Amino acid sequence: MTDPSQRYQGWAVSEGIGVGEIYLGDARPAAMTGNVSADDVRAAFAAVARDRAALAAQLRSRGQEHEAGIVEIGALIAADPALTGPAVEATRAGADAVTAISDAASAQADLLAALPDPDLAQRAGDVRQVGSAVVDQLRGSAAPPPPASRFILVRREVDPADLIRLAESGLAGAVSVGGGASSHAAIIARGLGVPMLAGADPRVLAAAAGHPAILDTAAGTLIVDPAANQVAAAEATGLTGAAVLPAAGGQVQTADGVQVTLACNAASAAETRLGLAGGAAGVGLLRTEIPFVRAVGWPTEAEHLAQLTPVLSLLSGKPAVVRLLDFSGDKVPPFLAGGPNGLAALLDAPEALGDQLRAILRAGRDTQLAVLVPMVVSLDEVGRVRTALDKAAKATGVSPPELGIMVEVAATAAAAGSFAPAVDFFSIGTNDLTSEVLGRDRADPGTRPALAADPRILDLISHVVRAAEEAGVKVSVCGDAAADPEVLPLLLGLGVRTLSVGAARVPRVAEWITRTGVGHDVMRGGNDVS
Ligand code: PEP
Ligand code: MG
Repeated sequence: MTDPSQRYQGWAVSEGIGVGEIYLGDARPAAMTGNVSADDVRAAFAAVARDRAALAAQLRSRGQEHEAGIVEIGALIAADPALTGPAVEATRAGADAVTAISDAASAQADLLAALPDPDLAQRAGDVRQVGSAVVDQLRGSAAPPPPASRFILVRREVDPADLIRLAESGLAGAVSVGGGASSHAAIIARGLGVPMLAGADPRVLAAAAGHPAILDTAAGTLIVDPAANQVAAAEATGLTGAAVLPAAGGQVQTADGVQVTLACNAASAAETRLGLAGGAAGVGLLRTEIPFVRAVGWPTEAEHLAQLTPVLSLLSGKPAVVRLLDFSGDKVPPFLAGGPNGLAALLDAPEALGDQLRAILRAGRDTQLAVLVPMVVSLDEVGRVRTALDKAAKATGVSPPELGIMVEVAATAAAAGSFAPAVDFFSIGTNDLTSEVLGRDRADPGTRPALAADPRILDLISHVVRAAEEAGVKVSVCGDAAADPEVLPLLLGLGVRTLSVGAARVPRVAEWITRTGVGHDVMRGGNDVS
């Protein structure tokens, strides 16, 4: 008998078995070609105008008059017949919708840019931005809503923000044609305990939407239209695996009685709930940039608060290590594309830094709060953040929390001794460190956490742990190597005693720790950060 099922291969980047219907999350290509009608284009302009007017009203009601004014200009542009008319007419005459919208926006922007009045000339950028928002609107409306039942998301490039948005609404697995194990989508998938394949066969983008499927990462396979007995077996297997719940405060003992503290990494309330249920002490790394990777400008204090409050309110009395926006690597939002990004961009925008720090201090009042600076390369950067943090603490009437740095650049790891007097703690980021030392792109499908076992990387980690011990500074590892069964024992052997791992992995990592002996009689005593 022939097997009617379809199979697609990919790299397992988050383990497990997921059962659900296929959900094609990308815009349907047909919607971006001649199949978009003039009425669709008119409706997309109207939707952008409506959204911006509603956002402006919301900002105004929060007292953000200046921001409301800026957003309102976008609403007026999107409703302006001088822009919508040519785009609609060109589409009606048979032009492809994206070209029609882009041409109309460019023509209008060029007219404005040529005006002698600098205020009006500046509107040229706003017109182009509205043009892209209308294209996005068409793309967005072309992607169907997620199914009501459990589903497996299939996209050309799975976005970490998608995973967070869909996590508690039936997401059973994810398949991405792009990316690898060190991309942020994979990191978030592991944190959520959602099985995921990356670098998948591109033909999967044409899989039958709505059809039943099994995602089995052990086999690296997505099976569409599997036999009924295969579904039953997969559902019965589910996420197996041993689990040990850490004791209160995320405490776990190695096989030879050494105490280790386990916290979890998160970018959302969903992961935080999962990590705490799994016994994590708290959040050891909050990636604050993930909700803003599509932002069109620096988040305001109110926008930060809206993201931070649901997470930090779960962490009353518990550790909450909140990292400043790390708009670098695969997390550069459109408004920073092509220019300086990451920590440099944040430090060059002191208002944006102040907004985030005040929001962190306000939302984290009841937690054991600490602020973490990403991608640090110089002491000057630490000093500038320290000054801004003191100022934000005064403004909010709280005492400044501990300040730590990510050690994830090789030169910073090598110079750990000179950074130690300026900080309260180090958090070692093995993801970026591994990528730099081995010269591998994080998006490369072959780049994976286990590569941190390379002696050059272990040497740097050992050096950081010793520098921390000598200076009396706390140290932890929050990169994904901490949740890798091959690297974890090596980290423990080097003296690391605090780990922060993907939220869904806490019980499994706890179990591996209980099975590891660190031989602390013959090695150094380790870095006790409690
Ligand atoms: C790291 O680089 O190890 C890290 C934890 O930061 P991110 O993965 O967010 O770059
Ligand atoms: Mg990093």
